[in-house]
Amino acid sequence: MANGLYPCEGSIDKGYCGVHAKLMKPGWQLEVAHRYDFPYSLHVGYSYRETIVIEREVTIMNWKLIVCSAAIIAGLVLPASCGTAGNLPAPADSGPSYASLKNAVVSEYTGKKPVEWGETVAGVKTSLATKERVIALTLDACGSPTGKGIDAKLINFLVREGIPATLFINARWIDANPELFLELARNPLFTIANHGLLHKPASVNGRSAYGIRGTKDLGELVDEIELNAEKIHRLTGKRPAYYRSGTAYYDEIAVQVAEKLGHTVIGYSVLGDAGATFTREQVTAALLKSVPGSIVIAHMNHPESGTGKGIMAAVPLLKKKGFRFVRLSDYPLQ
Ligand SMILES: [Zn+2]
Repeated sequence: MANGLYPCEGSIDKGYCGVHAKLMKPGWQLEVAHRYDFPYSLHVGYSYRETIVIEREVTIMNWKLIVCSAAIIAGLVLPASCGTAGNLPAPADSGPSYASLKNAVVSEYTGKKPVEWGETVAGVKTSLATKERVIALTLDACGSPTGKGIDAKLINFLVREGIPATLFINARWIDANPELFLELARNPLFTIANHGLLHKPASVNGRSAYGIRGTKDLGELVDEIELNAEKIHRLTGKRPAYYRSGTAYYDEIAVQVAEKLGHTVIGYSVLGDAGATFTREQVTAALLKSVPGSIVIAHMNHPESGTGKGIMAAVPLLKKKGFRFVRLSDYPLQ
């Protein structure tokens, strides 16, 4: 096509479509069609096109379009791997810089013995430091075998109502929903945060919570936090600033390690859905207990649960009580 503008041709899995193994020259434009007809889509049947300007010679493969276009949109230098058809980007943990970071953190904290274990250990932030009638909504996407879904009705509701939320996303959920993840990351209402690589409780010695074995040592803890941070950074161009472990359990040394890796550790003051086990009525009742500065924890990955309906019922009632919804970054945390 003239000027190197290629229409979308063919389709690949999960609803994306794009050119296959096409050599693209710098300055060419690639027109990408996004179709939202895959399961869990936020906008089933809706489609839009966007134009990507190619920055340097690159062979674009179907699946790579996602990674490469995200990098271009984010204004990053195109990853080297985008230029080699058929090769995945190098794993984040393979480089010398990751190994030296991990070694440095492990040696700094080796020998420190934790004395606390729980959801509110020293360093965990559980509310906004304000007397204003504001609430920060946080939603986890845990990515367990039964937790890879998306509550599209809830997300659509938040978008429609302009309610900001911090989305704590586990690496396994990203892998199950790569296009949807990028769509959420592109929405300025949502702050993408780190919910770990394998959803383990954050421990320096393998303590468990709810029967889930925590990270067994400092090295595994660094992997759990940092590899998902790097994954999110690589995909979105933005490094997450907040971390919540799988199960939200920590020892206080693990909290210090997360801070060392550039994260503020976020707990909660309002248990919104108890791991997506509450009924709709219980979720609404829980949210109505919010006070100025509350951080609400709930889940965005269980559309079958009472969570979404309960939140949607609570929001107008909370607004009537004079509350508004804000971001974690809008106030100091405590
Ligand atoms: Zn979780």
